[in-house]
Amino acid sequence: MMRFLPAAVFTLLAAAVAGPALAQVGSNATAITQPQFETCLANLRPQALSAGITAQTWQTHTGALQADDSVLPLLNAQPEFTTPLWDYLAGLVDEQRVEDGLARLREHAELLQRVQARHGVDPATVVAVWGVESDYGRIFGKRPLLVSLGTLACAGRRQAFFRSEFFETLKLLQAGDIRAEGLTGSWAGAFGHTQFMPSTYARIAVDFDGDGRRDLVGSIPDALASTANYLRRSGWQSGQPWGYEVKLPPGFSTAGTGRTSRQPLSHWLGRGITRVDGKPIDLPANTRSALLIPTGVNGPAFLVFRNYDAIYSYNAAESYALAIATLADRLRGGSGLRTPWPTDDPGIGRNERRELQTLLLARGHDIGEVDGMIGTASRRAIRAEQQRLRMTPADGRAGRRILEALRAGR
Ligand code: CA
Repeated sequence: MMRFLPAAVFTLLAAAVAGPALAQVGSNATAITQPQFETCLANLRPQALSAGITAQTWQTHTGALQADDSVLPLLNAQPEFTTPLWDYLAGLVDEQRVEDGLARLREHAELLQRVQARHGVDPATVVAVWGVESDYGRIFGKRPLLVSLGTLACAGRRQAFFRSEFFETLKLLQAGDIRAEGLTGSWAGAFGHTQFMPSTYARIAVDFDGDGRRDLVGSIPDALASTANYLRRSGWQSGQPWGYEVKLPPGFSTAGTGRTSRQPLSHWLGRGITRVDGKPIDLPANTRSALLIPTGVNGPAFLVFRNYDAIYSYNAAESYALAIATLADRLRGGSGLRTPWPTDDPGIGRNERRELQTLLLARGHDIGEVDGMIGTASRRAIRAEQQRLRMTPADGRAGRRILEALRAGR
């Protein structure tokens, strides 16, 4: 779906997001006054009414709406492009998320079986999406949804896109699917357990608990079934794997690799690709497949099929799709990737991030609460410790090397 980062990912990576830029004019504006906002809303009203929003719905939900232009600079922030893949995956596919996911699989086993029967997507995949999207319903995003979407509909470089999302939200409220009280989401408008954008919600959400409302905020059955419905509508093939971690033969050429360079399975087998666990790839020879080598021939490689593309469509980023895919494998009992990342300073999960924060606090750094989120203060403290230990680069990154140095009392 056309979307920005899900709330859980955004929270995890918040430190990498740039601070507010200077106010500019035109479509890149990073400020809007309340009078400008009210004029904009008045101008949008006729379009809203012709889109099927009643005058009463419009008045109820926009009558006292206040703009919040702190969302505008975030439009230009792209943390996924600055976070190494191993850090991204270490944060999203950590022991805590695996354990929580296994608990959810047990807790909702019967529901997940019914979801699979109806929509054809297996429990581990559905729960993995849930875990990455909202940390299993813990992180929905803190920004009032109508405020963010209203502001983005009236300022910034994607107004047409956000105007339509704003209208879709009002229609969902009007239909009674969701309630306005406490309605929050990511700054860009993804919300609820599945972090759907409102337009995706309108298209894809299903009422699975049978109460007549499609409620992806308050109903876990609706949320899990809607996730499965999304994947199915994106081409999910029931019973097929997303892909496998594979081994490349010595001297393998990277020519013709990448997600969009699709070939019959026989092509890759002919080039000497095998599974890392030595098991056969038990799929028809003409199965459409692509080879991913996201960090080069010395890092993990993946042979991926149609279901990987279905996951990818949820949030078009390779890092994101690999997080869901590898988390799902862990939830099926897999032990994780076999090939190490090509780095001498691998990423760390939230438990270790908390341990690192505790060690920083013990050294007198004022980093606030120990929460496993590496924010500005934590990064500053890490940088100071890296400089003290003459580590290079002293970049404030929370990795295994600084953790082990502080653990050893250096
Ligand atoms: Ca429902």
